[in-house]
Amino acid sequence: AGAVRSARPAMAEAAMAARVPPDEDGDECLPQYRHLLSPDLLAGQVAFITGGGSGIGFRIAEIFMRHGCRTVIASRNLQRVSEASKKLVAATGQQCLPLSIDVRQPQTIAAAVDEALKEFQRIDILINGAAGNFLCPASALSFNAFKTVIDIDTMGTFNTSKVLFEKYFRDHGGVIVNITATLGYRGQALQVHAGAAKAAIDAMTRHLAVEWGANNIRVNSLAPGPITGTEGFRRLGGKFAEKSDLFSAIPLQRAGNKTEIAHSTLYLASPLSSYVTGTTLVVDGGSWLTSPNSFSALLGIASSSAK
Ligand code: NAP
Repeated sequence: AGAVRSARPAMAEAAMAARVPPDEDGDECLPQYRHLLSPDLLAGQVAFITGGGSGIGFRIAEIFMRHGCRTVIASRNLQRVSEASKKLVAATGQQCLPLSIDVRQPQTIAAAVDEALKEFQRIDILINGAAGNFLCPASALSFNAFKTVIDIDTMGTFNTSKVLFEKYFRDHGGVIVNITATLGYRGQALQVHAGAAKAAIDAMTRHLAVEWGANNIRVNSLAPGPITGTEGFRRLGGKFAEKSDLFSAIPLQRAGNKTEIAHSTLYLASPLSSYVTGTTLVVDGGSWLTSPNSFSALLGIASSSAK
């Protein structure tokens, strides 16, 4: 695969680079942004983004704000979301309300949604991005570790969706995008906890799309592949895979970036996808189809990436 990669003509490399939207590695806003879509695509709307203070959620907040959306970014660490909010407001000129919630505790979500509605009088979009993950073989995973991931990812997504439904979406409609993963598609080694949690969310996406469609609520999942500049990438062996040229096994020959995930989320959250519900959009460069899933090799990556 390395030979194929180096044989790619220089012109093709340059054309590909021009098509990949730029990203920043840390939780910083993009120094420049070139709109591919109308800057008022989400004008007048409000998005509630769990996990919006870091990684993929932070970039989703930024890209939404660059398209006219006001945002609420919510996670446990108030200092983290407050600092993120300052950066987002400075870069985009839009409003951003940082709030502390634990998605495992419905009453904290209810209080945050009340506060958001008091501030903005509406919520149009919910992004369920909060999650926890780490590499661990099932044999070494404690009962509690498995439960914690299910609690944050699966229960957290249900809790937040239900609170939003009761407090606003039931009567006004809305759009929900659940950030999931492809881990369960092939039983990714060392990922039984997150794979099971995200598969349950993809099922929830279909159930809620069926039950809430008549309330004018669209529900979809977005499943990213390996995404650079994220906690997930750092924790799940991304750096190691990058160094070892493992990404050449991916059909598009590279990891994705946060801007790419934010653009696909923008599609699912906006009227561009007005007839799309109950589906999972995989945004992974084709990764899950071809990437290695060898239990013993991945055990080696886990131990070296932990160092
Ligand atoms: P991240 O920066 O660690 O994002 C996770 C966010 O969830 C954090 O902002 C965290 O903030 C929040 N969170 C965790 N537990 C919470 C809780 N109990 N209540 C409320 N908020 C909580 O990681 P990321 O890599 O960008 O991942 C973002 C999403 O993309 C996740 O759903 C992840 O599973 C998915 N994903 C990522 C990749 C990747 O390559 N990075 C690949 C596939 C899927 P606090 O600590 O402040 O609570």
